[in-house]
Amino acid sequence: MPRSTDIASRLAELRGRNLYRQRRVIDGPQGREVEVDGRRLLNFCSNDYLGLAADPRVVEALANGARHWGVGAGASHLVCGHTRAHHELEEALARFTGRPRALVFSSGYAANLGAIGALLGPGDRVLEDRLNHASLLDGGWLSRARFGRYRHGDLDHLAVKLADGPGEGRTLVVSDGTFSMDGDRCALRPLVDVARAHAALVMIDDAHGIGVHGEDGCGLVDPRAFTTQDVAVLVGTFGKALGTAGAFVAGEADLVDLMIQQARTYIYTTAMPPALAVATLASLHLAATESWRREALMARVAQFRAGAAALGLALAPSPSPIQPLIVGESERALALSAALAERGVWVSAIRPPTVPPGTARLRVTLSAAHEGADVDRLLEALAGAHRVVGGG
Ligand SMILES: *Cc1c(COP(=O)(O)O)cnc(C)c1O
Repeated sequence: MPRSTDIASRLAELRGRNLYRQRRVIDGPQGREVEVDGRRLLNFCSNDYLGLAADPRVVEALANGARHWGVGAGASHLVCGHTRAHHELEEALARFTGRPRALVFSSGYAANLGAIGALLGPGDRVLEDRLNHASLLDGGWLSRARFGRYRHGDLDHLAVKLADGPGEGRTLVVSDGTFSMDGDRCALRPLVDVARAHAALVMIDDAHGIGVHGEDGCGLVDPRAFTTQDVAVLVGTFGKALGTAGAFVAGEADLVDLMIQQARTYIYTTAMPPALAVATLASLHLAATESWRREALMARVAQFRAGAAALGLALAPSPSPIQPLIVGESERALALSAALAERGVWVSAIRPPTVPPGTARLRVTLSAAHEGADVDRLLEALAGAHRVVGGG
C-alpha cells in the first residue's frame, strides 16, 4: 500500500505533465447540445453518432421494459438472470450482423476481455494492431497467450509476425474496425487474406462501425462480403451509435457456446438490466431502418472536412464520424479545448496514454443530431481558438 504522500506526488506529477484528467458534470440528456456548469455547449465529443441516446422511442422502450421486468437482472446469465428480453436481443443481433449467433455482454470492455480470454491461453498467440482499443490490448495481455503488436494498419508487418514461428497453438489477429481515436478503418479484406494465409483467426471490434457503416448499418463486417471463416469473432457495442449500453460477440454457434462456457466476464457478472436489452432492441430497429440518420451523419462529416480543409487545419485521413485534429503536445490540446469551450463548443482533448506521446488531439465527433449550422459554428470556433492559441 503506497503512503498517501506517494499518491499525492503521483497526482502532482500528472498535473505537471498536463496529463491530469477531470470529469465534467453534465446536466440533462445527450444531444447536439449538453448542459455543463450551467452553460449550453454544442457537443462534439459524444459517440452518439445517430442521435439515438435520448430518442423518445428508446426512452419509452426502457421505461416499458422496467415496468415489465423491474430493474435488476438479479443474477448472472448462467444463474437466473438470462431473460427473454436478453434472448430476443441476441436473436435480433444475429440477424442484424448475419451471424449464426450472438451473445450479449454488459460492456464492450467486458466483451473484449471475455472473448479473447475464452479463445486463447498459454501456448496460443495474439497479434494486435498497435492502435487497438485499450480493452483489446488488455484482453490480449490477460489471456496469457503470447502477445505481439504490429504497426498500425501495416499488413506486411503483420505477415512478418505471422510467419515468425506459429508454434502449436492458435493464433488470433485482432483489430478495431474503425480506430477509435483516429477514425480510420482497418483494411478488412487484405487483413483477412493475410490472416487466412497463416491459418489465423480474425477478431474485429466494430464498436464505431455498428449502426454507422453499411447500407443498413450492419457495420464494416458485412455478412455479404465476410463469412465467419473470414471474421470468426465480431464484437459490437451498444454505447455508441445505438445510444444505450452493453455489447455483443457474434459468430458461429459453437463460438458463442464456448463464450457461454468460458468467458469470465460473461459468467462472473450480473446480467445487464433486461430493460436495457428492451431499449437496445428498439434502438437496433431504428438504426437499421432510419437510414436517413446515416445520410445526415455523412453529410455533416463531409461538411466538416471541407470546412476544416478550407481553414488549413490538419485533418486526419478519416472517412468516419471520428475526425481528430492532431495538435501534438497535451498542453496545446488542452488550451485549444478550453478556447473552444469559451466559444460555446465542446471538443475533448485526448492525451497520452490514450494516444501515443506527441499526438495529443482534439477528437471531434459528429452526429446525425447535429445541424449544418452547428458544424459551421464548430468551424468558426476552431478558427477563433487557433487564432488565440497560435500555431498551425
Ligand atoms: C468504446 C469502445 C469499447 C468499449 O465499449 P464499452 O461498451 O464502452 O465498454 C471497446 N472497443 C472499442 C473500439 C471502443 O471504441
